[in-house]
Amino acid sequence: MRPHLLVNEIDFPSLPKMFGHSSQIELIAGPCAVENISQMEEVAKELKNKNVRFMRGGAYKPRTSPYDFQGLGIEGLKMLKFVCEKYSLYSVSEVMSPEMMEAATKYVDIIQIGSRNMHNTVLLREAGKLDHPILLKRGMMSTLREFLLAAEYIVKEGNKKIVLCERGIKTLEDSTRNTLDISSIAIIKNETSLPVIVDISHSLGRKDIIHTVARALIALGIDGLMLEVHNNPAVALSDSQQQLSIEEFRLFITNLFEYNNKAITVREA
Ligand code: PEP
Ligand code: MN
Repeated sequence: MRPHLLVNEIDFPSLPKMFGHSSQIELIAGPCAVENISQMEEVAKELKNKNVRFMRGGAYKPRTSPYDFQGLGIEGLKMLKFVCEKYSLYSVSEVMSPEMMEAATKYVDIIQIGSRNMHNTVLLREAGKLDHPILLKRGMMSTLREFLLAAEYIVKEGNKKIVLCERGIKTLEDSTRNTLDISSIAIIKNETSLPVIVDISHSLGRKDIIHTVARALIALGIDGLMLEVHNNPAVALSDSQQQLSIEEFRLFITNLFEYNNKAITVREA
């Protein structure tokens, strides 16, 4: 194996107009899954009000049970694109199959490779052939070395537009959905110049501790936070217990501002 990886050596350019161009922390917020247009409208409008620049929404959902909601597919991507254009937001959505990679670039500003697919080398190579930003999530049972090697697959093919996302790993601890590995942020930052964000929703799987944990993550120097926001979490088709309501989202933003008023990018009107 190559002794020094490209991900360790290269000075990664900031994603144009996106990540890494300021000292501020970006938020990627939105529902777990795109469900319908009114849901997307309501959430997008709120994100815009709070100067959030990135909206997430899954159209292809990697569910544990095949009987659970699998996402709206291309119709979901179209809804995401529609509201993001309407409210001038960047869109983020997961792609699970290599054949969809190229097609998804028409709808999505940042293509997400999810935790379950971090080891999918065919998908990684396909992402590497694109000139499109990729948000790569850490595999839930992956070491940091494996995480960086997954990024290496993308970089090796020529795509340097990558954002790494820590989303917690499986341990024996079951009070959170996954165990958020906070030391990984510091280590990744030592080893690469790639932007690193944390998905606070999937790592914790609960809402009562997000304010405290978010403060710790800011102190660690993260470049961004991903969190799930739904207009009516009680009836959400996936991850109902961890998605923030609009009210809870407002509280979260207020709390972050109180901690560090540079926490969130403020866009001039
Ligand atoms: C998601 O972000 O929608 C998701 C499924 O997350 P993960 O791949 O980290 O489980
Ligand atoms: Mn989810």
